[in-house]
Amino acid sequence: MVRQSPRPAPRTTGDLPLTVGAELGVPTIHRTVVDFGNLDHAATTPALVAVTDAVEAVQRRYGSVHRGAGYTSRLTTDWFEQARGEVGQFVGARADDEVVFTRNTTDALRLLAHTLPPRTNVLVFESAHHAALLPWTVARTTRIPVPTSAEESVTLLDDALAALDPAEPALVVITGACNVTGDIWPVADLAAVARRYGARTVLDAAQLAPHRRVDISELDVDWVAFSGHKTYAPYGAGALVGRTDWLDASEPYLPAGGATHTVSHQHTRWQEGPARHEGGTPNAVGAIALASACATISAHRDAIEAHEAELLDALRAGLTEIPGVTLHHVLGPAADGVGVATFTVDGYAPSLVSQVLADEYGLAVRDGRFCAHLLCETLFDGDGTAVRASVGLATTREHIERLVHGVRRLVENGP
Ligand code: PLP
Repeated sequence: MVRQSPRPAPRTTGDLPLTVGAELGVPTIHRTVVDFGNLDHAATTPALVAVTDAVEAVQRRYGSVHRGAGYTSRLTTDWFEQARGEVGQFVGARADDEVVFTRNTTDALRLLAHTLPPRTNVLVFESAHHAALLPWTVARTTRIPVPTSAEESVTLLDDALAALDPAEPALVVITGACNVTGDIWPVADLAAVARRYGARTVLDAAQLAPHRRVDISELDVDWVAFSGHKTYAPYGAGALVGRTDWLDASEPYLPAGGATHTVSHQHTRWQEGPARHEGGTPNAVGAIALASACATISAHRDAIEAHEAELLDALRAGLTEIPGVTLHHVLGPAADGVGVATFTVDGYAPSLVSQVLADEYGLAVRDGRFCAHLLCETLFDGDGTAVRASVGLATTREHIERLVHGVRRLVENGP
């Protein structure tokens, strides 16, 4: 029997400063509910101090972006354009790449879907997050089955590309790191296969960019999409970075003010470059916050990676020792991964496990199908759900010990 129970409202326990970042020499997370241990960074990350400081500074003085001659307007326009440069640098943008600010990864991928040339074939693994699996409604889409190893992913992509008409354009959607298991995909290898067939590539870096350096030219992908709220910045800003040709050839994503060059009764001429797809007044505060997060992460990349690796090792080792607990992977247990441990506990519904961890141990994890239903169906028995614990700067070693202790007690003593 699988034990279930209703889910009561979550309990919070105070508002205390976190010090983990300071210990690492990384600017601290500003303030959060520290004894409510954050093991849900794959969903959303708290903002860094540098980011909240940047937001505060902008909020005090902002004016209309690209639409005014006044001092605050020019200042905000400068900040906004500097932010564009910083975000491009964060993902190693080539000299002729452009950075389009979007709301998040979902929005960035949908924007790219809007620009596909006629008859484009899209190839995407079934394991992709829904944001990468579903926006290609106007195109011919091939869904590649879930592979069981990095090597198999390359072979499956090769087979899928070989089946297409080489005269037609193609776009391969590559996941950087799996949002369900954290497994890092062989991005450069997949991009090389795509390139051999003349196909374009877009990297969904929502889970990879916050945790590992992403370099668009080293990986040789055409576009990269990622989200601010998973990258220690607030909600509402993300980016699509990459080639200009498809973007400049397409109708604007948001046909409106800002995207127009000139409008007459006979004809509308659209802007080229990022402005073409950033119609309406942009989220300048979000863009500046995102850039601040990018700069801070780049400056502290090694410390952040070491912190996350240590926590992840401890988490996986602790969970592995508990009888009845299974850790899950897409690309096999040997795959390199970002800070995610996804597990099931024999005899306990994942929703009950996460509820016990939240209510009795003050820990935030996530359970469910993680916006990747096809993958979860493949990976997990029963109702296709699991528990995901994901570490980051707001996670401490003590949170990991608490989680392992909580799962062990649940298995030994029941809920
Ligand atoms: N891609 C991956 C791999 C994700 O993990 C997520 C969010 O969880 C997304 C895309 C969508 O990101 P957002 O909700 O910020 O648009």
